[in-house]
Order: sequence, then structure tokens, then C-alpha cells
Amino acid sequence: MTSRRTILGALAALPFAAPALAAGGKFAISFTPAEWQRRLGKEAYAVLREEATERPFTSPLNSEKRAGTFVCRGCALPLFSSAHKFDSGTGWPSFWQPINKAALGTNVDRSYFMVRTEVHCSRCGGHQGHVFDDGPKPTGLRYCINGLALSFVPARAA
Ligand SMILES: [Zn+2]
Repeated sequence: MTSRRTILGALAALPFAAPALAAGGKFAISFTPAEWQRRLGKEAYAVLREEATERPFTSPLNSEKRAGTFVCRGCALPLFSSAHKFDSGTGWPSFWQPINKAALGTNVDRSYFMVRTEVHCSRCGGHQGHVFDDGPKPTGLRYCINGLALSFVPARAA
């Protein structure tokens, strides 16, 4: 559903965005649906490329407590840090802020008779989840993320 996506401010700041745009994609990393499917597998493809939502309490990343970085399953861009993860009780990995402002883009999502803010990887456009304003301090935000959209990279032992 690329037609619903809006051009991202973060993307405009990327020096390598122009060639991707010229090639017909909005994101620096772009593949055909068939190639994404091959790379991601069925379940992750459904989440990242078709905005499906995984069933709650199914992701092993819910209970991931180690220090490290959560990267996009589509393109390995670092999106979230373990330092910002919290247990929301929702059954989805939850964070109160992204690892940096440029990591994520947002869209207004009007599906299912709700108005929500969809969040996706700024580099490949892969759907991550939604952000809500009922999170903990200091941001008050709750990034509700599909574990299938992420890979966890543990911090190296010092
Ligand atoms: Zn990505």
C-alpha cells in the first residue's frame, strides 16, 4: 500500500535518497514484492510489507532483557535500544522512544475505524507497528512494535 505513504522529512535529509527516488522507490532500500518475500519469509513479509500485526504474546522479543539494539528485520537499520524498552503488558515489544529521530517515519493509519500513527523503518519502509501517547515518562510515548519486524543484536561484552 505504498500509495498511503507520505514522503518523509527524514528521507529528504538522506544524501542517497535521490537515486532511490529516481528509481521509482521512496526508500533508500527497495526490492520487488517477490524479492522481499524471498528475503523475509512469509510471516515477516506480512508484517513488514503488508502491515499485518502479529498475534500478541507470540514474539520472543517480548522477554528480551539483554542490553543491545533492535534493528529492522528488512534492512538491519538500528531502530530501538534496549535502554528504551519497557514492559507494556500488551504482548508486543514496546519502547518509549526510537534509537534516534531519523530511524522511523510515520503515517496516519485510518484502518479498522481508528486513527492511529503507523511507524516504519525510514530506510526500507518496512512497517514496524504504531506509536501511542499512553507511554511512560519521559516521552509519554509507547512504540508498539511487531517482534517479527525486528532482529535483536546483543551488545558486545566489554
Ligand atoms: Zn528497514
